[in-house]
Amino acid sequence: MIHRRLFLGLAAGAAALLSLSTAHAQEPLPVVASFSILGDMTSRIGGDHVAVTTLVGPGGDAHVFEPTPADARALGSAKLLVTNGLQFEGWLPRLVATSGFTGETAVAATGVTPIAFSEEEHEGHDDHEDHDHAGHDHGPNDPHAWQDLANGQIYARNIVEALKAADPANAGDYEANGAAYIAEMKALDTEIRAELDDVPAEARKVVTSHDAFGYFGKAYGIAFIAPNGVSTEAEASAADVARIIDQIRDEKIRAVFVETISDPRLVERIAAETGAEIGGSLFSDSLSAPDGPAPTYLDMFRHNAGELAKALKTS
Ligand SMILES: [Zn+2]
Repeated sequence: MIHRRLFLGLAAGAAALLSLSTAHAQEPLPVVASFSILGDMTSRIGGDHVAVTTLVGPGGDAHVFEPTPADARALGSAKLLVTNGLQFEGWLPRLVATSGFTGETAVAATGVTPIAFSEEEHEGHDDHEDHDHAGHDHGPNDPHAWQDLANGQIYARNIVEALKAADPANAGDYEANGAAYIAEMKALDTEIRAELDDVPAEARKVVTSHDAFGYFGKAYGIAFIAPNGVSTEAEASAADVARIIDQIRDEKIRAVFVETISDPRLVERIAAETGAEIGGSLFSDSLSAPDGPAPTYLDMFRHNAGELAKALKTS
């Protein structure tokens, strides 16, 4: 009896010591983000309180990602999963099911007003048949909602709320970091509008190799025309290419942008046949490496807007 009491007393003392030491060096909240843009947003809002694992890293293609066993292990031990939603990450439900993940899921695009795929692209093309996206599991709406800084603010608020719920002890920091981040997004939005303000209406048309800029175009008044349709998997047919070349000539499109995650040969051929300017790279679904031109979500916007302004003002 005496031995047992002594043992219990020691155990309680050890537990008290342990909790004292962990109060100073609290383990960061393990969070998984589906792709690099959400990873950056979550790191920015979570700061030192979170340890973020990003599944589809810089340069990766989140449309066609194949998770590894290491990804499943990271998700299995995470407390929070941050996803885009709008059926962007078609591979994610299976990963969640196999990983043993028991945490909460934050859908960052919750609350945005979705836009339908390629509304503007199909205008005036009555003979245009929809691209066949067989095997590509997307919904009726364009998932690239982060390409509008107003939506970025919605994403940030959703991530703030999810972090507060998962880790209430640091709610004040998440709130403050989120507010500062949203203020930066608003300032950058104003900056980009000013930068693009003097681009003439007739010059506000570009061609990109990946149809990911519908939200950007709607926000900043630029028409993006994509030869590849809506998916990085779908290759344009010869008829698609001929149609785009005709459209560039008919509508006097000034600039063609080679994107980070699609084969650039197609847009280069179009540029060669039409004389349109080839602009720099626009980042759509992925950030650049840390030493590249778009290592964060805000850098990505600054970079894209700068490339567009440069091409449309000089062409
Ligand atoms: Zn995309």
